[in-house]
Amino acid sequence: MSGDHVSSVISARVRRVEDLLEGRGLLDAGEIDRRIDEFAAGGSPANGARVVARAWVDPGFASRLLADANTALGELGLSMSGGLQEQRLKVVANSAAEHHVVVCTLCSCYPIALLGPSPSWYKSEAYRSRVVRDPRGVLREFGVELPAETQISVWDASAESRYMVLPRRPEGTGALSEAELAGLVTRKGLIGTALV
Ligand code: FE
Repeated sequence: MSGDHVSSVISARVRRVEDLLEGRGLLDAGEIDRRIDEFAAGGSPANGARVVARAWVDPGFASRLLADANTALGELGLSMSGGLQEQRLKVVANSAAEHHVVVCTLCSCYPIALLGPSPSWYKSEAYRSRVVRDPRGVLREFGVELPAETQISVWDASAESRYMVLPRRPEGTGALSEAELAGLVTRKGLIGTALV
């Protein structure tokens, strides 16, 4: 089969599945198109990194972010809406005493607007089941070795509630600008599987 033929077969199947889901009331007509628009609207880990850098340089913003992330995002022109309904976002801050890590044990829920499309390991059965049972062991596999006295909290996302980690600001970064600080932050850091 030619590539064009394969993709038209796949398109027809996808269309058929959409029709079935819509027919049974499981999927709102147009929902898939809206989700694709959300992706196209620029969900990227650079957005999450900007939020983190602002929180590092502005303690007032950091406390507003931890108290009510959805409202604080607006200060940077970002939002968790852009679809059917605004998703609730909770930002959890790492400290010497506590490290946070995010998962969706059911599927792959995740703040796309701030982190971009989710990585394949985030969606994997292995990550979803193991990070809950043995977070310290999973983090070690990601190269994150935490002191025994640091408590690890695992946050389980859902369709309505999303989580993002606020990593600790690295030592020796006092002279960096906000934009330079944002450049240090990785998608794994925002999920909690890296320190920054
Ligand atoms: Fe999910």
